[in-house]
Amino acid sequence: MAFPEAVERRLNKKICMRCYARNSIRATRCRKCGYTGLRLKKKERAAGK
Ligand SMILES: [Zn+2]
Repeated sequence: MAFPEAVERRLNKKICMRCYARNSIRATRCRKCGYTGLRLKKKERAAGK
């Protein structure tokens, strides 16, 4: 069983929709390209793909 905290920590990222860089959960824009289209990393059930 995974620790809920660890899972949460892993999901506490925002992904730039332009360059797919990982940004901090608090970031409002991509630190790499400055794009403001950030989304939270999706929860995925299986660790397959
Ligand atoms: Zn970016």
